[in-house]
Amino acid sequence: MPGKFPETLEVAVPLPLAETFTYGVPAELAGRILPGMRVTVPFGRRRMTAWALGPGRQPDRGDLKAVLEAPDSGPIFPPAMIPFFRWTAAYYKQPLGEVIKTALPAGTRLAERTVYRLREETPGGGGETPPLAPDEERVLGLLRGGGKTFAGLARVVPAARLRPLLSALERKGLLERSTRLAGGSGAPRLQRWVRPVPGVSPAALPPRQEALYREIAAAGEIAVAELSRRVPRAAALVRALERKGLLERFARRVFRDPFGEAILPDVAPALSAEQEEAVARVLGALGRGFSPFLLRGVTGSGKTEIYLRVAAEAVARGLSVLVLVPEIALISQTERRFRARFGERIAVLHSRLSEGERYDQWSRILEGRTPIAVGVRSAVFAPFPRLGLIVVDEEHDTSYKQEGGVPYHARDLALVRGRDHGAVVLLGSATPSLESVYNVRRGKYAELRLTRRIEERALPAVRLVDLRALRARRGPGRFLSDELKQALAETLDRGEQALVFLNRRGFAGFPVCAACGEALRCPRCEISLTLHRAEQRYRCHYCGFERPAAEGACGSCGRREIVPLGLGTEKVEEALRGLFPQARIARMDSDTARTRQGLLRLLQGLREKTIDIVVGTQMVAKGHDFPGITLVGIVCADLSLHFPDFRAGERTFQLLAQVAGRAGRGAQPGRVVLQTYNPEHFILQAACRQDDEAFYEAEIAFRRELGYPPLTRLVLIRVSGTKREETSRAAAAVGDACRALRAAEGGSLAAVEVLGPVEAPLARIAGRSRFQVLLKCADARLLHRFLDRWVGRRASLGLPRPVSVELDVDPVFLL
Ligand code: ADP
Ligand code: ZN
Repeated sequence: MPGKFPETLEVAVPLPLAETFTYGVPAELAGRILPGMRVTVPFGRRRMTAWALGPGRQPDRGDLKAVLEAPDSGPIFPPAMIPFFRWTAAYYKQPLGEVIKTALPAGTRLAERTVYRLREETPGGGGETPPLAPDEERVLGLLRGGGKTFAGLARVVPAARLRPLLSALERKGLLERSTRLAGGSGAPRLQRWVRPVPGVSPAALPPRQEALYREIAAAGEIAVAELSRRVPRAAALVRALERKGLLERFARRVFRDPFGEAILPDVAPALSAEQEEAVARVLGALGRGFSPFLLRGVTGSGKTEIYLRVAAEAVARGLSVLVLVPEIALISQTERRFRARFGERIAVLHSRLSEGERYDQWSRILEGRTPIAVGVRSAVFAPFPRLGLIVVDEEHDTSYKQEGGVPYHARDLALVRGRDHGAVVLLGSATPSLESVYNVRRGKYAELRLTRRIEERALPAVRLVDLRALRARRGPGRFLSDELKQALAETLDRGEQALVFLNRRGFAGFPVCAACGEALRCPRCEISLTLHRAEQRYRCHYCGFERPAAEGACGSCGRREIVPLGLGTEKVEEALRGLFPQARIARMDSDTARTRQGLLRLLQGLREKTIDIVVGTQMVAKGHDFPGITLVGIVCADLSLHFPDFRAGERTFQLLAQVAGRAGRGAQPGRVVLQTYNPEHFILQAACRQDDEAFYEAEIAFRRELGYPPLTRLVLIRVSGTKREETSRAAAAVGDACRALRAAEGGSLAAVEVLGPVEAPLARIAGRSRFQVLLKCADARLLHRFLDRWVGRRASLGLPRPVSVELDVDPVFLL
């Protein structure tokens, strides 16, 4: 049978389906649908919004369904990104539609809206109008002013009565409904502007109108909002002048300012010799094809300045620049510095933007209005058709890994995009990931080094203190060594600032029943609850479960003898207040910095030195620059060391180096007191000597011995469900299926190791039991061949409904 459509179209639908679909393009839409535009298509019994990818992949044999609508006048992502989306979907074994949905800002999702309007002609032609109830009159009255949505009509008749009423009116032929697509919240924001009508000069005006008219005429054109700021009741005066035919209004598109925070422009300093050399090497590679670099430099060695220089030069050469920064509270130092240097020329893609602001920033990039974008993880999908430079700041940061949904790694995708575009990819860190260090050793990345701090500022001296010596102590503050107390006292005496770091918020992490010894656990997660004393609540840090501390009876013996064991930032704060009553102490963790205001106040206090000691979690370790801090105290360096995860050592090293790096960033030298139960551990030794070579050497040897990344590749198959037994059986079936697959195929897949299933270290989270199977292979291509077979077979396993199976390719968290 011959085709009946002039064109066919390949589309991706936002559903968990691996394949794409071919639709027919009806004559009235032919030639109008470009790749990257949204279309609506019938799918099963539904209609949905999908994305146009290009000409259909199936021939039109007369059985294709038609595209219904194409609301866009242009693509909402550059067609050049389609191969990148396909690569991402194939690599992470995720549906293409899900990848595109993840990449686009929520504001581009079309919402289908039903609109009710009056029928032009009443059926029966001029006969008697049937009698109407008062509610019906009210609805029809409203509709005489034009079509309305359900929500609009619900303002005059309550929703419960409205539904049957609308159906009744429809049956009587008085009303019709139609659906149309609306762009969700992601609409451009328009602002009302006015200008004098040319060629008209005003006759005598009342004084206030006269004054306003002159002001407008002087400006040429001006926003009404701006006039309102200058002149009281400006809007009313404008209306009066409009009525006299003196002013005309027009709409102008404005971009929402994402932070509303003034950032002062800065001036580029002269580069140090080391910086000069690094910049020269990167610029030498710019525009000459794919070229990955790892920039290693201690904290404060001037990496950000290098990003700024290289970015400025790339822009001058007409290339686009993408800068990725880790997700941190508020705005990172790097974002701030880019805004200071480039001002409004940069687009910002930050997680704290509203949906509308995000959409605006996306559009600015898409429309080619800005050559630079700075953003967190998801900005790796920024809609630049071509990129010349991609910077990944703090490339080791785990916030680049997306958990859940499409579990991608933004640093890895940055390299893929860079390769596609022939761009320079500049990864920077003081404590690079083992993966990147290993890639330098294998010759895949070029290495750039900054060995000295700017202006030869000394790195802080680190002093290790053995916590085991404190075991016998009692009383508040027993976890603070004499060395740390002494150092704090000296710092306060000199009028300098100190940071006391502990990677656990709350008051006490292990509330334990003194009568029977049971720990207080979250009923949904089987994890210790943390006491938050200020609010008198127990809280689970995994799922958010909480209950009042007053109800703190032991779940096992019922007695009320809970004692707060363990440490949290609140307890440290309390002890410090007891020891240094004159000091101004603040706490910075996700409890105190939950709001933008709260965090801004804290950062301001630190900058303006109205805070002497700040107690904080890793929130203070990351991304902020406090020149006044000369002492860093690490209360317990071991907290992350014993996590059941092969990267625990790497994370501990990175965290300690980053925290220590907060000391002495200004003119005064800094020092660090590091308390630990494991002073001999090689990681603590290396952190103490700031000998990162020794750390990487030892850690790579350890990974090689145990066959862990970066020497192998991993895939985590996570099986979770509400019932433990059922989930455990499903996990066993998954493991068996993997082993069967390994044995099949004539043994070519035998190189893939199948480990488990085992119960996950966090065995239960938010009421779901968790098991995992780990796949491991030194050869990434083999592993992917294995996975493709596995994805094909998964459906045939027949797992019970409440059990879900998720794939995490290159997992970062194995908990
Ligand atoms: P990093 O990103 O490696 O931590 P930064 O780029 O933030 O280092 O530099 C640390 C400090 O030194 C910043 O305050 C920065 O403004 C300043 N700085 C960087 N490069 C220079 C330079 N060439 N001359 C003077 N000051 C510099
Ligand atoms: Zn919980």
